[in-house]
Amino acid sequence: MGTGLDRFLWSVLLLLPVFGQSEALPESWLPGEYSDTISDAQRFLSDYNSTAEEVFFHSVSASWNYNTNITDHNSKLQVSASLEEQAFVEAWGIKAKQVFSSGVLDTLPDPKDKKLMEKIMLLGAANLLPKEREEYNTILSTMDNIYSTSKVHPQPNISWSLEPELTKIMANSRSYKTLLYAWEGWHNASGVPLKQYYPSFVGLSNKASRADGFQDTGDDWRSWYETETFRQDLEEIYKTIEPLYRNLHAFVRRQLYNQYGPKYINLKGPIPAHLLGNMWAQTWNNIYDMMIPFPDKPNIDVTDEMGYNATHMFRVAEEFFTSLGLERMPEEFWEGSMLVKPQGREVVCHASAWDFYNRKDFRIKQCTTVTMEQLFTVHHEMGHIQYYLQYKDKPMGFRSGANPGFHEAIGDVLSLSVSTPKHLETINLLESVTSDIETDTNYLLKMALEKIAFLPFGYLIDLWRWDVFSGKTPPERYNADWWYLRTKYQGICPPTRRTEEHFDAGAKYHIPGNTPYIRYFVSFILQFQFHEKLCEAAKHTGPLHTCDIYRSAEAGAILKKVLQAGSSESWPVVLQDAIGTNKLNASSLMKYFEPIIEWLNKQNVNETLGWPDFNWVPPMPEGYPEDIGKPVNTTPLTSKMARSNASLKNSVTSRGLRSPLQNWKRCEGNSCVRVFRAACLMFKTPLSVPQQRWTCKREGEYKLPQSETIHEIYLKECLFVLTPLAPM
Ligand SMILES: [Zn+2]
Repeated sequence: MGTGLDRFLWSVLLLLPVFGQSEALPESWLPGEYSDTISDAQRFLSDYNSTAEEVFFHSVSASWNYNTNITDHNSKLQVSASLEEQAFVEAWGIKAKQVFSSGVLDTLPDPKDKKLMEKIMLLGAANLLPKEREEYNTILSTMDNIYSTSKVHPQPNISWSLEPELTKIMANSRSYKTLLYAWEGWHNASGVPLKQYYPSFVGLSNKASRADGFQDTGDDWRSWYETETFRQDLEEIYKTIEPLYRNLHAFVRRQLYNQYGPKYINLKGPIPAHLLGNMWAQTWNNIYDMMIPFPDKPNIDVTDEMGYNATHMFRVAEEFFTSLGLERMPEEFWEGSMLVKPQGREVVCHASAWDFYNRKDFRIKQCTTVTMEQLFTVHHEMGHIQYYLQYKDKPMGFRSGANPGFHEAIGDVLSLSVSTPKHLETINLLESVTSDIETDTNYLLKMALEKIAFLPFGYLIDLWRWDVFSGKTPPERYNADWWYLRTKYQGICPPTRRTEEHFDAGAKYHIPGNTPYIRYFVSFILQFQFHEKLCEAAKHTGPLHTCDIYRSAEAGAILKKVLQAGSSESWPVVLQDAIGTNKLNASSLMKYFEPIIEWLNKQNVNETLGWPDFNWVPPMPEGYPEDIGKPVNTTPLTSKMARSNASLKNSVTSRGLRSPLQNWKRCEGNSCVRVFRAACLMFKTPLSVPQQRWTCKREGEYKLPQSETIHEIYLKECLFVLTPLAPM
């Protein structure tokens, strides 16, 4: 797919062949005749269930085929299967509404049957007229296609996909300009062409939700949480964790200031969104290497130690589940899943877990790369599969999480154990663990970069979308309101000027993919509540962040009960049953992070917390973007440089350097660049680097970041050693 115009034509063409097919539903998928009696209501539910299993298997299969092989043909099949599914939902929903009176529903012996019947009576997109339905399905398919096939072209013959190239650049590059290029390129390539579709999608989606009795789609989605005060509850939880977030933000901003200098980092302003190691600045663990509180301690990012392939990562995750007494992945899982990005065809790379509703097929689709971060994604996705497996014999209407946040939390709960240094040692990814306060601080900071950094992001996505659905944010303010929320909650700012020409929300999968997002915020709170309870069951002693529930049958039993319930009980009941409270709250999370909260408070005594310069944005770098995509300069050190290097090395050694010098290489895209690590002893005067000024982190050590201008570093009153890698 090329430009937005091509895409538009393509979607119009796509519409043509499916006209007239929307009502085509096989006879065997239509409801029979029922009367308004208890026994017929029960028969109806049973018939519905067996038919729904067939229909959903059919539509999920079509969707899987499209997602793992994006072609026009598969898109048509998917749209057509969605229409069939909607025709099914409509036929059975209308039949239920016509036949069964509230008198009968209220007297059903099992009150859960009433709940099932009410779910069947919600028609969703099937409320739309056939023509609107087609438009709705086609827009969704088109948006998925645009997002999944967008590319950035740094040169005419080079293209970067989101996965793996752009994701790797965002994680590993420390070049301000390269990051900016990747960020801007992606946001323009994916977001801009999506914009034209989103308002029509919102209109149709609202229309469908209103027909089910909701104010709009946001109201519809919030109803899944069955809590009158849902919005206020979340705001309160957010207020609880906000001081912790601001402390983390201030600390990270200071380290970025050390890296990128005052031109690009304002110590009283928001952080440019492209510098945090992730395309959406949603988790910051990829810049942990710039933040390490105690760099001499063993490296707890074990990416380099993994030596795994993708399948092995899934085996490792499976083994954790079975160690708790939970299910193995069935044969069909290993046969049917897509665990690596295939060659020669376009796929939707965004990781996802699939229930085919036939009680046999469960699959994961993930363009897995071998990193520690992806190992956690593997656990996350497998948590969904475990949920599917545990509730597979429940009626269709109850095959979902107690609320959507539960579904997202399960794999993450396991990851909280997997990531502990103790567990990494158990599975041979860390050689030896010394349990001391410095290693703990390193670990907790890394966890905070993953978990605390995410909270405002997880919260604001649906704040934005709820406003879009309610009309409070009209299309002409999509981007302005998006950035207002991004700055207000995350304290980040766009690194280039963004206008209403852009549609930056669209550059995040869940907007074009139409996946509600507040579930992730709920999950990030809930998973710590679960973790605390499971650790107690596993008889863990010591601080919460050191707990590993591996091999605890007791912990597994608690989890199993939650999973098996599916959504047959309301979530507060499930939660009460499992952990003894029926409320979401952040106290377990705060307990987990207590030591790092204290540490960050100390680091930040002289920092401005928050971002009073709310509207600040960084300047555009000189020479951007013309000099992007040029080969990285790998000229050897000049002789002058080498000489000064040698003499400096002597003087440093003679003064006794605390930590050994290290050097390493870092690869970006196809090319590896030299990276230097340096140490400095005296730092009364900041070290000057062209365009940037560095200050030493603290006495005794200093890590020099990667920079394309690294050869131009000149030294002032700071003793410095540069150790280049051997030639490559
Ligand atoms: Zn998930």
